[in-house]
Amino acid sequence: MQTTFGTGQPGRENADLAFTDPLTGLGNHRRFFDKVDRLISDRADDPAPFTVGILDLDGFKPINDLFGHKAGDDILIQVAMRLRASMDGYSTVCRIGADEFAFLYPMVFSEEQAAEKSRMLIEILSAPYDVGERTARLSASVGCSLFYSGDETTEILINKAETALYHAKRSGRGRVVVYTREMEDAAKRVTRIEQALRRAVSAGEVEPHFQPIVALNSRRTIGFETLARWTDRDLGMVPPSVFIPIAEERGIIGPLSQLVLRKATEAARNWPKDLFLSFNLSPSQLVDQNTGLHILAILDRTGFDPRRLEIEITETGLMTDPASAEKIVEDLRRVGIRVSLDDFGTGQSSLGRLREFHFDKLKIDRAFVSSILDDRPSEHIIRAILAMCEGLGMDVVAEGIEEEAQADRLVQFGCAGGQGYLFGKPVDADATLGYLRDSYRGALRAKAI
Ligand code: C2E
Ligand code: MG
Ligand code: MG
Repeated sequence: MQTTFGTGQPGRENADLAFTDPLTGLGNHRRFFDKVDRLISDRADDPAPFTVGILDLDGFKPINDLFGHKAGDDILIQVAMRLRASMDGYSTVCRIGADEFAFLYPMVFSEEQAAEKSRMLIEILSAPYDVGERTARLSASVGCSLFYSGDETTEILINKAETALYHAKRSGRGRVVVYTREMEDAAKRVTRIEQALRRAVSAGEVEPHFQPIVALNSRRTIGFETLARWTDRDLGMVPPSVFIPIAEERGIIGPLSQLVLRKATEAARNWPKDLFLSFNLSPSQLVDQNTGLHILAILDRTGFDPRRLEIEITETGLMTDPASAEKIVEDLRRVGIRVSLDDFGTGQSSLGRLREFHFDKLKIDRAFVSSILDDRPSEHIIRAILAMCEGLGMDVVAEGIEEEAQADRLVQFGCAGGQGYLFGKPVDADATLGYLRDSYRGALRAKAI
């Protein structure tokens, strides 16, 4: 049937189209809002709760990139069919975003039931999808909220489901989270930190601190790791373990990183030339092809020799988009920047990765170092890592050394580099200069820094 637009006659088909998702034939976000609005007014005098949920496909974008958009569309159509088939006579499912679906369960009255229904949807979507000759698999995350009182609007309910979905996504793939009050408080706190951080970054208020990295046998300082520090007027000192993940999630990591690198290289360019500076890159920066250009532009501006810079990346950073990470790393390596694999031994360590990627250095995670004295497995793992690094021609630094006995044991095993509170905590640029003056007194007096 042909449909005409703009005839001035809002015919039935036009009205339907305005509420329909053309790809899947499901209702769209307008239909969903409309359905929830109606149910809220129906329930005005009837206090029975009901459930709304938002389902988001995990990792749909890489599937789209890998199989192409046509295949991506086919998968969305199959997802829609499965979801529609799983609804009972009362329930509704709509497509409200590219890979986001919303459902309404008028007869689901409790959080347990909501979670159970959602898990069932995830299960249904987990079976393989036909994509031409191949098959693809998908997981999905769901956030739900329940309507309890007439004070709630459709918008509030959906926002709560979005908040729950955000928590589900944060905790991994294929999860279901039902909204609670604490979640809202946590979400508000994250938003507060995000706002304050945006302001701090544009005001240039995030500072680099520097922690010495030493040659373990001589204890001579060979370089420093840059670690971001931020003290907000209202929030006080916020640790990087809190603000770095927020910066990554909310798209602030790029500007934050550039600010810290600029300040760090400005401070370090006057240090003795044999000292290197290392700098952490977040996983999301290894997906952004501008990262390399930004780093090079900063080095150019501050006049810092790229051969003195090392970047630290984690295996998580390589996993999201290995091709993109490899390109960025190669561009940086071409100008002499060295690359370290940070926090080795935690997360999804893969020896395969060490074959595919060339690292100049490996940093053994603090978890192994802290248990080296009283835990045989840690000792064996460290020895195996050291042997492997030697074979692959990689430098090694053991992180988080706090005690003399740990340092002694590492020297005994042949570990060349160390970092940890035993040698120095991260301190600001002025204190670092003081530290360098003390340790390099003679040599530096001659150079008059
Ligand atoms: P990381 O890169 O593994 O940095 C080492 C962390 O261990 C630092 O924590 C450091 O202060 C801490 N540490 C060093 N020696 C010891 C020790 O002897 N004992 C103990 N208990 N801890 C020690 P920090 O500064 O809190 O940073 C945490 C993480 O935040 C870093 O882990 C890094 O992943 C991230 N981070 C910090 N600054 C930046 C940055 O500028 N950019 C990015 N992308 N990430 C950063
Ligand atoms: Mg690091
Ligand atoms: Mg580390």
